[in-house]
Amino acid sequence: MEEIKVIAFDADDTLWANESHFQDIEAEYCRLLADYLPPADISAALFQTEMQNLAIYGFGIKSFTLSMIETALIISQNEIDSQRIGQIIGFGKRLLNMPVELLPDVKNVLNTLDGKYKLVVATKGDLLDQERKLKNSGLQKYFEHVEIMSDKQNSDYARLIKQLGCEPEEFMMIGNSIKSDVLPVLELGGMAAHIPFHVTWAHETVEEPITHPRFVKLNKLTDILSFLSIDPELLFD
Ligand SMILES: [Mg+2]
Repeated sequence: MEEIKVIAFDADDTLWANESHFQDIEAEYCRLLADYLPPADISAALFQTEMQNLAIYGFGIKSFTLSMIETALIISQNEIDSQRIGQIIGFGKRLLNMPVELLPDVKNVLNTLDGKYKLVVATKGDLLDQERKLKNSGLQKYFEHVEIMSDKQNSDYARLIKQLGCEPEEFMMIGNSIKSDVLPVLELGGMAAHIPFHVTWAHETVEEPITHPRFVKLNKLTDILSFLSIDPELLFD
């Protein structure tokens, strides 16, 4: 633990709510197309389109919007009216304009860790959207480095760790996704903390529980302080 010099935070569903917004919009999307298919079938078709597009579009709201349009064309057999296409574009814009909703104790925890560790953001998603959320979050001042990554594979983290000028064992990643925030970092020799969010995107779910000496599962963000042996009373200074 004394080795840790850099703490990197995932952003979506770790610092602020995200997946719940996507799921709300997806529910509206399913209602919009309810005359074609039941909601579960629309969601399954949308997920399939998203997975097929991931390699060319990457992650984020704009990709999601294009996949919603494409799926609407598929399930309506190209019969979907232009008015509903317009509404789907509107869903995407609403997601892009959602206010940033910080998760509990984020500011307190960052305030407490500030100065003790080099704090970093490592997130996927649309570049502009993540920049907007970070700016609106009021959290920018805590982070010495912000990395908006096209993916979170081993090689992406290896590049980031090298860029940060630290060794893998000095790097700790905190996030809500086992697949994206935990497994690649553990494989590189870093430390990873998983803090589950109440909803997880199907693409990010991992079945097996993790047992690894450099892995820790936390119930909430403030638990990171006791894990790092930082007096939790500092929280309210
Ligand atoms: Mg996340």
